[in-house]
Amino acid sequence: MKMDIIYLENSGFVVQTTQHTLVFDYYQDTSDTIAKLLQKGTILHVFSSHSHHDHFNPIISTWQDQVAAFFLSDDIGNVGIRSEKIIWLRPSETSIHGNLKVKAYGSTDLGVSFLVEVDGWRLFHAGDLNWWHWKWDHKYNQVLAKNLFEKEMDRLEGLELDVAFFPVDSRLEEYRSIGVKEFCHRVSLEQLVVMHTRGERWSPPPGFFSKGNVVASWCPIFSGDRLQISKPQRTATAF
Ligand SMILES: [Zn+2]
Repeated sequence: MKMDIIYLENSGFVVQTTQHTLVFDYYQDTSDTIAKLLQKGTILHVFSSHSHHDHFNPIISTWQDQVAAFFLSDDIGNVGIRSEKIIWLRPSETSIHGNLKVKAYGSTDLGVSFLVEVDGWRLFHAGDLNWWHWKWDHKYNQVLAKNLFEKEMDRLEGLELDVAFFPVDSRLEEYRSIGVKEFCHRVSLEQLVVMHTRGERWSPPPGFFSKGNVVASWCPIFSGDRLQISKPQRTATAF
């Protein structure tokens, strides 16, 4: 069983399984990946974790004739998409759409993160869920950021995932990877896909993952970068 992952920009990705093409947090796509898919007649399932401009672009409404469903965080306003195509999600809400199962988890910024089961894969897209530790910030805000993050990690604890998309934001400097590190220790994961790096390549230093836990890591930089992964079919469901 194979999955293709194509990087768009920031936290934007296309994920192709045997039966489905998913688009996460589309913002811009200088590789014209989406345009090529639409031209080929591909039907999309589109996810937007929140309304910030680097995660959501209202241009997605122009694809709607080729979109089976839009899974949108409910902080995103009406963007001219036909209502029957939209599934609004808030943290802890679940939606089953054909063979696609989606559960929204929380964020530490705005909106949601997504757990998706599709064609035997289980994947997680964090949106802006991260441990946002700004070292110049007031101590009070730093504690708040940590507490918010821990609360979400408690909810995700023990999840078994094939692929997870998670932010490693270079603006956090030496604290950029404390969030992803804790996340990788709290779940069981095969493939980490690093996002929201602001153009900087990052790779896990030795000893980053817990002992005996072999996690592959991929940090795309350029729009159109691609990764193919394969694995045996997953049978159990997390829902
Ligand atoms: Zn963001």
